[in-house]
Amino acid sequence: MQENKVLIEDYYSADSYSRIKAFADTKETPFVVIDNRIIRQHYKDLEESFPFARVHYAVKANPDKRILELLRDMGSNFDVASIYELERVLGLNVTPDRCSFGNTIKKRQDIRFAFEKGVRLFATDSEADIRNIATEAPGTKIYVRILTEGSHTADWPLSRKFGCQAEMGIELLALAQELGLEPYGLSFHVGSQQRDIAAWDAAIGKMKNIFDRVLKEKGITLKMINLGGGLPAKYLSRTHEIDTYASEITRFLREDFGDDLPEILIEPGRSMCANAGILVSEVVLISRKSQTSLYRWVFTDIGMFSGLIETLGESIKYPIHTEREGVLEEAVLAGPTCDGVDILYEEDKYCLPLTLEIGDRLYWLSTGAYTTSYSAVEFNGFPPLKQFVID
Ligand SMILES: *Cc1c(COP(=O)(O)O)cnc(C)c1O
Repeated sequence: MQENKVLIEDYYSADSYSRIKAFADTKETPFVVIDNRIIRQHYKDLEESFPFARVHYAVKANPDKRILELLRDMGSNFDVASIYELERVLGLNVTPDRCSFGNTIKKRQDIRFAFEKGVRLFATDSEADIRNIATEAPGTKIYVRILTEGSHTADWPLSRKFGCQAEMGIELLALAQELGLEPYGLSFHVGSQQRDIAAWDAAIGKMKNIFDRVLKEKGITLKMINLGGGLPAKYLSRTHEIDTYASEITRFLREDFGDDLPEILIEPGRSMCANAGILVSEVVLISRKSQTSLYRWVFTDIGMFSGLIETLGESIKYPIHTEREGVLEEAVLAGPTCDGVDILYEEDKYCLPLTLEIGDRLYWLSTGAYTTSYSAVEFNGFPPLKQFVID
């Protein structure tokens, strides 16, 4: 819960914030401003923290062309979830050997499309998908996504829908080989915004176990582990710094695999972009449901359908800044649409100044990932969330 006034300096350098703010002052709400300099720094930090890993940026977190161009120029690879993301990345002159198709749920014709464009690395987690890959993308490398525990400690879990049990994974790797594919490695995702480092420990241990078993039982030597995403961004809930995750994850890898690490891929999405963005909205209405109510309802021009879907279940708690000072009082925060679901924070109320007025701006910090890419196109006629990238 946001009980105190959010301090900008806890999230942004003075320089970054003043540039974002100066730009934001010229635009009508709602919109997101991304500072590409922050993404550049995140990418550098990540390369330093994981010098042995290949970075495959998870395009879905924020597919803005200027972000993709920046990452392309910095040498990043790209994990795409659909042929549309693939086309976008290839359209920016990224070569297909820098792309992985990370979605385990894909149509046969989409596999063929990716193969024809030159993609040679596919995620999979089922027999039907492997058979499709074998016919539509013959001879390519596949990695099998394994179910991992830890989704209950992630703020935005993913793991139950994707991946298979270890036993099944081993059979799939053998099947891939039989069908002429190259059983290349394994992947997992500990759940997005995973704040508990132990989730990686368990997952990496599981990978080591499958590496050993698949060699012993099937004679297959795997070469790669894809650690997925999950590295957290800074919201209201506490996390460690990224380099702490990195050094611990590295330690887990060394413990299990020694000095001879397999090829390691990482697929950051949220941790690359979230803290580079600020969403700016405006207060549309402030009301109380009775004369004696102890809290206000604050309606703003951004909601569940215009980019803040990750407030679903109040999972992601964005820090909210206002320029108003003074005594704080609890408020329910809700979006502008005519849908009862469009309440952002109610269980966990946010404390906002009593001086807050209609027309004031709210600054939603750490909103550079999974906001614009989730925004509805025309619900209630509201246009999709705009995004501006500055650098
Ligand atoms: C969404 C996704 C990611 C990115 O996860 P974050 O938690 O945002 O870093 C990485 N890999 C795959 C396969 C994904 O689906």
